[in-house]
Amino acid sequence: MPESVGEVYHRIVRATRRAAEGQCPECANVAAERIVWEDENWILSRAADADELAAALLLQTREHSKVGQLDDELASQFGRIANRLVRIIENLPESEYVDVSRYGEYRGHFHVWFHAPFADGTDRPVDLHQVATKLANWGGDARA
Ligand SMILES: [Zn+2]
Repeated sequence: MPESVGEVYHRIVRATRRAAEGQCPECANVAAERIVWEDENWILSRAADADELAAALLLQTREHSKVGQLDDELASQFGRIANRLVRIIENLPESEYVDVSRYGEYRGHFHVWFHAPFADGTDRPVDLHQVATKLANWGGDARA
């Protein structure tokens, strides 16, 4: 039986993250080739091994921080980025909707997941270059 959407999310979020001893696993694992967009405070990267979804993206702070402890400036940046990102992805034909969640345990960085199941009748992933360049219209740099 195929996995449910929730099971897929769980597997992606739980994917093993290895880091050299004494290194933050998040800092060590933000591989340049997986970065979709970034600015001075935020990094948006795509999850590895997430072929069952139209998009699986992780937005996290560059600095070490916690959900619930962002200053007002970072919190409002997060709101604007998240709002734009959902709008961009939901307007692409490959995705039906976007689930936004803080999922999984604390790993040193404020992080929120954006999971987009495929739209009915398609199994193509969203074009991350389009997502990145649209997001960069408001600032930051497209990397995908
Ligand atoms: Zn770190």
